Amino acid sequence: MNRRDLLRLGGAAVVAPAPANRLETRIVRLELRQRWTVATSSSDYRDNLEVRFAAQGVTGVGEGAPLARYQENAQQARQALEAVRELIQKSDPWQFARLMEEVFRRVPGQYAAKCALDVALMDWVGKRLGIPLYRYFGLDPREAPITTYSVGIDTPEITRQKVREAQDFPVLKIKVGLDSDEATVNAVRSVTNKPLRVDANEGWKTKEEAARKIQWLEKQGVELVEQPLPAHMIEETRWLRSRAHIPIIADEACRHPADIPKLVGAFDGVNIKLAKCGGILPAFRMIQIARSLGLKIMLGCMIESSVAVTAAAHLSPLADYADLDGNLLIANDPWRGVRIERGKLILPDGPGLGLTPA
Ligand code: MG
Repeated sequence: MNRRDLLRLGGAAVVAPAPANRLETRIVRLELRQRWTVATSSSDYRDNLEVRFAAQGVTGVGEGAPLARYQENAQQARQALEAVRELIQKSDPWQFARLMEEVFRRVPGQYAAKCALDVALMDWVGKRLGIPLYRYFGLDPREAPITTYSVGIDTPEITRQKVREAQDFPVLKIKVGLDSDEATVNAVRSVTNKPLRVDANEGWKTKEEAARKIQWLEKQGVELVEQPLPAHMIEETRWLRSRAHIPIIADEACRHPADIPKLVGAFDGVNIKLAKCGGILPAFRMIQIARSLGLKIMLGCMIESSVAVTAAAHLSPLADYADLDGNLLIANDPWRGVRIERGKLILPDGPGLGLTPA
């Protein structure tokens, strides 16, 4: 045995191997209070991916909502993270940005999976630092905006009922994009004069149809319209915007940071969602890019528990508009986090996401 071998053996005997980080992935079924219908789909429950990341005696929790719009599902999301388990377990969580970059490099697609891990890591970082995430990002929780309450597509009778139940919310977001649009908005207007935002979810198929609908909606006190045309129809949306008097916000057309520059001139703003882009870090990057290009910022969510909705809410002081009500649509939210008082988002001030079990 030479000197170098001796030193190596000696070193191995003294330095115990660092304990691996612990990663848990599980699929959580969120039951909806009511059937949820938008222009493109209808559902009674959602299966999301929940992640727990534990290291140095602290556990972070994350969640990602797989998007059928982009051919994602919870099983595949879980498999995607399991495929990089070893990388996650052996990485230094303080190098979370580097770790997420490596996960993005190794895992194609699967943004819900990336989101769940990113949120768990950022919860972990906040807890280890002993500060709420809004403070990590240099934000004032008093500047959190009000959130809209979303009303899915339904019969006029149920629509009126949902609007009455949303009496505490000063602004409503109405889902449209089907032949029933006029009946839906008339039903809403028969019970409230509140400002409305509408989301067509790509439901209008030609620019002329969209122009007619927007012209009518402007007269009904609608203050903005989200994704009027299919995502790829950016030039048609540019034409539409030159005829509209209210802001047009991109949602399905804006998924990743690199999508934003081509939307300038066609849209007034972008709806940024953690589940679309892969978590808090890319969402923060998108906010900076959109802002630098003169676009308005909407922060949105999917049907998610308080984990993912609270994660987005911590960035909400940077947003012009918030649509962070996904947790209110479910009956079995396992967590408590962000609260809403008369529509205003109230951020929890515990470390990390500031979640407590429900
Ligand atoms: Mg939308």
